[in-house]
Amino acid sequence: MKTLITGGTVVGPLGATPTDVLVDGETIAALYAPGAAAAAGVTADNVIDATGKYVVPGGVDVHTHMQLPFGGTFASDTFETGTIAAAWGGTTTIIDFAVQRTGEVVQDGLAAWHAKADGRCAIDYGFHMIIGGVDDEALKAMDHLVEHEGITSFKLFMAYPGVFYSDDGQILRAMQKATDNGALIMMHAENGIAIDVLAAQALARGETDPVYHGITRPSALEGEATHRAAVLAQVAGNTPLYFVHMSASEALAVVSAARAAGRNVFAETCPQYLYLTLEDQLGAPGFEGAKWVASPPLRPRDESHRDDLWRGLRTDDLAVVSTDHCPFCFKDQKELGRGDFTKIPNGIGTVEHRMDLVYQGVVTGRLSLQRWVETCSTTPARMFGLYPKKGIIAPGSDADIVIYDPTATTTIGVATHHMNMDHSAWEGFEIAGRVDTVLSRGSVVISDNAFHGRPGHGQYLRRGLSQYLR
Ligand SMILES: [Zn+2]
Repeated sequence: MKTLITGGTVVGPLGATPTDVLVDGETIAALYAPGAAAAAGVTADNVIDATGKYVVPGGVDVHTHMQLPFGGTFASDTFETGTIAAAWGGTTTIIDFAVQRTGEVVQDGLAAWHAKADGRCAIDYGFHMIIGGVDDEALKAMDHLVEHEGITSFKLFMAYPGVFYSDDGQILRAMQKATDNGALIMMHAENGIAIDVLAAQALARGETDPVYHGITRPSALEGEATHRAAVLAQVAGNTPLYFVHMSASEALAVVSAARAAGRNVFAETCPQYLYLTLEDQLGAPGFEGAKWVASPPLRPRDESHRDDLWRGLRTDDLAVVSTDHCPFCFKDQKELGRGDFTKIPNGIGTVEHRMDLVYQGVVTGRLSLQRWVETCSTTPARMFGLYPKKGIIAPGSDADIVIYDPTATTTIGVATHHMNMDHSAWEGFEIAGRVDTVLSRGSVVISDNAFHGRPGHGQYLRRGLSQYLR
């Protein structure tokens, strides 16, 4: 089965060029200057006219939490519903977080994640491993996962004591292990011990509304934890260190300084931190703000965070935009925290909207077309050992392709989205641009405003080491 995509502009890290793309089976077979395929007598079973549209490598979302157990409930997207929603939004690869909680065996957590995902994903997927209990056994398991399971990145938490939390000694030991085996340490950098004190004090004062979730997690405590982690990584031997869901100016300044000093320090941010604020969303009247309870929290509107994050994306101090997709319904899930903000499940659902939301940075002149593709596809693929199979439109690469229409528009909302949520954190957002057609390994999964894929099409990706290290 051959597919020829004609008339479009291929966008990659090197620029935007009018190019025709020939897909043969599951991979990209050749690129042609406009008209050259016809002149060479190339024929195809299926021709897709992409005139006036961008042809970009499928999105790679390296931070999702399908069916994550949290606060007595589970994130509401399964691997089936979540990957179908991702495909609708032009994301063709996710990397989800398998979980070892404190007291559990790493390999058991991984097996549980494979059992949830196997045969259910509509797009390709890989796993990181959350290490919630660093001890001798877990450290041994890290070597095993790198060598045998295609898992080359491990997430640690400086927050959530008793569930995922690692103390500084545990973090140092895991970093030393990663220095040794080449894995990437992914860090949730918030000072959870201090935050828990502030949260308890707020509750004691009767401050129970969702907005206090943000007020008790000040940006200074993200900056402090980011600095501490960067120092620990330096002491552990320049450990590859990747900060997840960066939200704060103070944290970004730490990353900028570490990178200027030549260290293996990287960071991602998420659309919610680029657009949403503590006052406008988390501070919505009554309990409404629960929809936007996530950690780190949305930051105050009048502080520098959002402008700094956009700047960080331009300068590459922020290398990646992921979603931290962790959806919970309002009814029966977010509502668990009525009267006590600490009991609101933490998470926002965005897996379907990342390509659109970051593309708005191109529309408003904050990002170039190339940076859009780099931060959403090419760099995440390289960062997590999937390149050039993923993240680029080039001969030999998987035919994961998004045809994006810059002249069409998208209105985001619960009535039209495909995530398994009873509300949208992005209700009413107007997007200048639209995902038109999506191919996953050569198969058209989205076209003509319909899903044509199937659960089980998605394959598990065994990843190599990060491709950004010395
Ligand atoms: Zn997360």
